[in-house]
Amino acid sequence: NKWVFSFGDGKAEGNASLRNLLGGKGANLAEMANLGLPVPPGFTIPTTVCTYFYAHDKSYPKELEGLVDKALATVGKITGKGFGDAKNPLLVSVRSGGRASMPGMMDTVLNLGLNDVTVEALATLSGDRRFAYDSYRRFITMYSDVVLGFDHHHFEEILDTYKDGKGYTLDTDLDGDDWIELVGRYKEAVARETGNDFPQDPHAQLWGAIGAVFSSWMNARAVTYRKLHDIPESWGTAVNVQAMVFGNMGETSATGVAFTRNPSTGESSLYGEFLINAQGEDVVAGIRTPQDITEYARKASGSDKPSMEVAMPDAFNELTRIYTLLEKHYRDMQDMEFTVEQGKLWMLQTRGGKRTAKAALRIAVELASEGVISQTEAVSRIEPASLDQLLHPTIDPNAKRDVIATGLPASPGAASGEIVFSSDEAAKLQADGRKVILVRIETSPEDIHGMHAAEGILTTRGGMTSHAAVVARGMGKPCVSGCGAIRVDYGRGTMSIGTRTFKTGDVITIDGAVGQVLAGRMPMIEPELSGEFNTLMGWADQVRKLGVRVNADTPVDARTAIKFGAEGIGLCRTEHMFFEETRIRTVREMILSEDEQSRRQALAKLLPMQRADFVELFEIMKGLPVTVRLLDPPLHEFLPHSQAEIEEVARAMNTDPRRLADRARELAEFNPMLGFRGCRLAIAYPEIAEMQARAIFEAAVEAQKRTGVAVGLEVMVPLIATKMEFDLVKARIDATAHSVFRETGGKIAYTVGTMIELPRACLKAGQIAETAEFFSFGTNDLTQTTFGISRDDAASFLGTYIARGILEIDPFVSLDRAGVGELVKIGVERGRNTRPDLKVGICGEHGGDPASVAFCHEIGLNYVSCSPYRVPIARLAAAQAAL
Ligand code: ADP
Ligand code: MG
Ligand code: MG
Repeated sequence: NKWVFSFGDGKAEGNASLRNLLGGKGANLAEMANLGLPVPPGFTIPTTVCTYFYAHDKSYPKELEGLVDKALATVGKITGKGFGDAKNPLLVSVRSGGRASMPGMMDTVLNLGLNDVTVEALATLSGDRRFAYDSYRRFITMYSDVVLGFDHHHFEEILDTYKDGKGYTLDTDLDGDDWIELVGRYKEAVARETGNDFPQDPHAQLWGAIGAVFSSWMNARAVTYRKLHDIPESWGTAVNVQAMVFGNMGETSATGVAFTRNPSTGESSLYGEFLINAQGEDVVAGIRTPQDITEYARKASGSDKPSMEVAMPDAFNELTRIYTLLEKHYRDMQDMEFTVEQGKLWMLQTRGGKRTAKAALRIAVELASEGVISQTEAVSRIEPASLDQLLHPTIDPNAKRDVIATGLPASPGAASGEIVFSSDEAAKLQADGRKVILVRIETSPEDIHGMHAAEGILTTRGGMTSHAAVVARGMGKPCVSGCGAIRVDYGRGTMSIGTRTFKTGDVITIDGAVGQVLAGRMPMIEPELSGEFNTLMGWADQVRKLGVRVNADTPVDARTAIKFGAEGIGLCRTEHMFFEETRIRTVREMILSEDEQSRRQALAKLLPMQRADFVELFEIMKGLPVTVRLLDPPLHEFLPHSQAEIEEVARAMNTDPRRLADRARELAEFNPMLGFRGCRLAIAYPEIAEMQARAIFEAAVEAQKRTGVAVGLEVMVPLIATKMEFDLVKARIDATAHSVFRETGGKIAYTVGTMIELPRACLKAGQIAETAEFFSFGTNDLTQTTFGISRDDAASFLGTYIARGILEIDPFVSLDRAGVGELVKIGVERGRNTRPDLKVGICGEHGGDPASVAFCHEIGLNYVSCSPYRVPIARLAAAQAAL
């Protein structure tokens, strides 16, 4: 068991491959040291010590203390300083860092080792008292907050009072004497409030900080974050102890963060922010407005402050050399943290950078074009679900914009919603189905649930790398940050800009692509897909084996899906064509008819409407397969509910409203999900199936005549449990088809198949396939009937099931491989035993869920079918499954 890993001075005991042991930060610090990059020396206490810590009542392996002392001595040798030395003190940072990055979730302590004696040494050595005491007050603040549990806002109050008294506005207005005075007041407050003097012994400080980092692994923020991101608790965190370098040593010093490519757009140019004479998190905390790194970015932002390229050319050139090297080495876009101490650049962190889906696509495609990665690697790098972000609407460019304020374009996309000022409120309203924009001065990890619930996020403080910006980009939500012109008053629930005031509940729109805040709701338009999107999807299409179709009932859906690359319609639900107001009356007439004759009358009215729908769909699909499902009505949704509705239908049918009401009551079901639906309807009232078949075939003949392209027609019978059911309905369909062909002189090549959505159908698939020419698994109903859980009623208990670990994930979202999946497998096997060339697909929600798509690939389905906006997700997921 190795409990300490040193790094620095051009070498390291660890490297990037030891991520599980050293955490991401520690592993990459070691890797950078091995590459000979300027990394302040230090050492990593691995995650195994965290595991030990929790297994042994928060204690350490007994050898650890000696090993830490030895490692500290090595750092002292490299830097020429001594930890706790009264003349030439070594100061360190204590930094957390687990396997997976958990930004801002755990705390870092800087300038550790300072006390009343060493601060004087620092002042003498640097010749700068202000710098020394500024560092000391920062240390007292962070250490008290993180280790002593004494909240930092206490210090901020003391500082504000002091500044007010002196008439200062900025922290930079304070000189050395001011900070000396404040350090005294800070220490007094700590002693008064905690009952103990601020610790002066550097070793006690160090072990206090190490313990705090390990303990922070279990703090509420970290626990929530892990839950949201599926990070196991058992992983633990590592602790990094590292020699301090100082960005707050005057005008030739600075601290910053940079991405090797633009994390919003993917553009290949160094991108980031830095602050002169600042330390640590100053850049992301939004205390001062950071400066751009490159001149290119400064021109684009229009900032009047010089870029790093101009202000610190040597450090900038070194950063350029290093970032190019790091990107080549890691073969991916990097997110780096650095500090410049008196002109010299130091690297403090590098990791794969978080990025928007748009940027991810562009970066993957460009890295492949640059030959850094292969095309298949590019395909594997895009998270299929993230494509959703690219498919979201943007504001109609022709709409008039009432811009109330402009901030930073922190995360692309646009959204409208009611203003809310707290995350709890956002979550509450969202649960009620309302759309909200979360407006905060700034966000912190405590706001994650509110950010999840909101359509978009607006902050008045913070830059492009602020918490709100980083988290929103990760979530794919629009975000405008740093909108300084807006004054937020949490107490009153208002935000104001000049003379205009908006309150909780008022609707605004944010445009994250340009950073605008607009009054009211804006018209949105469909997204245009970028060249990179099409390139990458093309690469994905080359490797995938599964076909991807769409569930589309309307021409609009069909057109969208074609644009997104659908290869056919896998499910066209004819009942959805009947919900339109003028049609539903006729459908009600049909359903409520008491005899065949009046039912045929109503059906005759529906026929031309249905036929027109199909003609249009067939024309749009231009010969691609179209699976049309016969009526599977949720009967209760079609029944008239109100007295007015009953009277309206009665008038149209020329009957007594009371009689009609009786008939409606007769048809009402206890359990509609298992009631009179699917093929049962076609069997009891064959004239319904006949009308539909007629509409379908007449439309197909007409479309084929008009376009000259053969229609790829597949007629599908829903909800069958027995072969006999299927055969009865198929006979009607075939007979109608032949009548239509005879009458019109046209001919359509078609197949008749069935939806498999009942367990019995899976088991009897061998028999059913004797006559059914294709299968489509309706996994929504199959999940309902396999679990015996009604999807519409599941909400009240499914949460408990997931919380207790009875179910890992909602089976309506991701296919239950073990149970429902086994039935699907049985169905496929038995079906293909009878009919080896049986075409098998899946339709329903699962067709667009990446994990379910992977399952469909594994069991050898021919295609998946999903909603239009999920088509690209399914294409990419299918490709990744095939890699
Ligand atoms: P996080 O995981 O939240 O990013 P870090 O451990 O990276 O926390 O620390 C936050 C910041 O503190 C760094 O970006 C860097 O600016 C500063 N910092 C950490 N260690 C040092 C150090 N040894 N010298 C100077 N600054 C440091
Ligand atoms: Mg960091
Ligand atoms: Mg169904």
